[in-house]
Amino acid sequence: MTRLRLVGTSWKMHLTSSEAAAWFAALLPAVAGLPGERELFVLPPFTSIWVAREWLAGSRIAWGAQDVHPDDAGAHTGDVAAPMLADLGCRIVEIGHPERRRDHGEDPALIARKAAAVLRWGMRPLLCVGEVGRGEFAAVAALLADDLSRCLAAVPAPDRARVMVAYEPAWAIGAGAQAASAEHVARAHSALHEWLEAWSANGSIPVLYGGSVNATEAPALLAEPAVDGLFVGRHALDPLEFARIAWAGLPRPLEALETARGGSS
Ligand code: PEP
Repeated sequence: MTRLRLVGTSWKMHLTSSEAAAWFAALLPAVAGLPGERELFVLPPFTSIWVAREWLAGSRIAWGAQDVHPDDAGAHTGDVAAPMLADLGCRIVEIGHPERRRDHGEDPALIARKAAAVLRWGMRPLLCVGEVGRGEFAAVAALLADDLSRCLAAVPAPDRARVMVAYEPAWAIGAGAQAASAEHVARAHSALHEWLEAWSANGSIPVLYGGSVNATEAPALLAEPAVDGLFVGRHALDPLEFARIAWAGLPRPLEALETARGGSS
């Protein structure tokens, strides 16, 4: 049986609206014909969510946001609320990314309120968890379990199956870093799945891996049974590299291959 795999990207603070339109124009032909067992999603900056909606409405590709305020409305200058995202057709909202924890001091109590807001408005929270530095595995597993329990503390039982998790060890993220080994990822994901299965009786929660994923490493990561998908940062800023990651491990039709090569045969 073929297993569903999710492949998504957050562009972080990259790409203007005009650049976003060019990105979608290049991506769509390169992923045409992607089998149903691969599901894609794109999380642009707030300023380009409308562009994602224009290009992706009616397609199988979901779009969403990289952050949200926990309140539904109010005097919070510069913030964006969950109903605003839902109204733009967002289906997934990332919360708890290590850069938000580092740059904005976000703690699990705030992240838990964000998860509740996302669920309240019918979207899926994509919770990022991961250790900051490399360490002994037992300590990493304990830290992951503690973070999950605190960040998901406000999720009522009937909503649990809508949660998504990204394992993002901070040491594997960003320029100069290398993806964690498939072996380490498999171990961490198994620990996460074990915790999540005990927490959510209603269905299995996907656990994606994020951290320096590129098209070379994607097939080995996706081949791990505990890896339900990939969450891609800087390597997805090139739409054709993102397409290669989306196709990782699958036979590609000729047209998609040609698009990914820039039209040459
Ligand atoms: C991330 O930070 O979520 C991420 C996956 O980034 P990168 O792929 O650039 O390491």
